[in-house]
Amino acid sequence: VNPALAALLFTAAVHALQRRLSAPRGLARELLGAMRRGELSLAYQPQVDRDGRITGAEALLRWNHPTRGAVSPAEFIPVAEDLGLMPVLGAWVLDQACGTLARWKADPALTRLTLSVNVSASQFNESDFTTTVRQLVESHAIDSTRLRLELTENVLLAGLEPVAEKMEALKRTGVTFSLDDFGTGYSSLAYLRRLPVTELKIDRSFVAGASDSDRGQALVRSIVSIASDLDLNVVAEGVETAAQHAFLRDTGCHLFQGWLFGRPVPRDDFELILRERQPAEMPVPQRLQAR
Ligand code: C2E
Ligand code: MG
Ligand code: MG
Ligand code: MG
Repeated sequence: VNPALAALLFTAAVHALQRRLSAPRGLARELLGAMRRGELSLAYQPQVDRDGRITGAEALLRWNHPTRGAVSPAEFIPVAEDLGLMPVLGAWVLDQACGTLARWKADPALTRLTLSVNVSASQFNESDFTTTVRQLVESHAIDSTRLRLELTENVLLAGLEPVAEKMEALKRTGVTFSLDDFGTGYSSLAYLRRLPVTELKIDRSFVAGASDSDRGQALVRSIVSIASDLDLNVVAEGVETAAQHAFLRDTGCHLFQGWLFGRPVPRDDFELILRERQPAEMPVPQRLQAR
């Protein structure tokens, strides 16, 4: 082997390795500061029922980076996981979400909304997760039944029994559970009987797949049928077209979420949309009813 070439290849390999390492490391370092600098926020995406009424929202984490612009959670959440930052980041998200529910509680037009919050497996499996949720519900004085925690099948890596017990304890605080990205994990369906979930979210990939083929449609039908046997609500996520919506509605899905109904937006915008679209939600003030 030509020693000069070998040296060249070695240097190139080292550089490639450095590039691969430095990108996530840079992001990691900045993520630590992002929380302090207030670059993180929640976006709210509406969920609508079969009559087209907005019943709630999913809170989605956003990072507005000063130079990179919007960084996708698909990019930075894995970094946060690697750094062990997810419990802290997740607690921040929950605190924000509870703050929003407290705000909505005081507003007749918004008081009936539910808010779904994504909880990562590492966050859920922290030993003090239940305490964190209980304390946040109490300190914000919210109606805990409005708070829905979205879990994925990944949490089950910690074992079915401990996870089921933790969910039962959390359920006693009033919160409800949704299984996110349902059907994309590797677990068996048997766990569904043991976990106190009230809702399944059909993953976007199944919703998209239903447009392509009969097999795709059959898959969605079987998910809805499992859910209905177990008395669970079904949410379809990633609904982009009227044709998808029509199929999902005919199949029996209860709630719909996707660009067809609204993109994730800042809280103020979400509240504005709600007031414009659903002013009828406003009940007659009590002092008027009395007369
Ligand atoms: P997810 O929980 O399954 O959220 C749904 C994703 O689909 C969101 O992506 C949403 O913006 C996107 N989406 C909604 N409707 C449509 C549609 O009609 N078409 C398409 N193409 N996409 C749609 P986003 O906001 O980029 O979040 C990606 C993932 O990052 C989430 O998937 C969730 O797993 C994770 N994530 C986001 N926020 C949080 C958070 O606060 N905590 C944790 N642990 N994870 C989060
Ligand atoms: Mg989700
Ligand atoms: Mg999802
Ligand atoms: Mg998904």
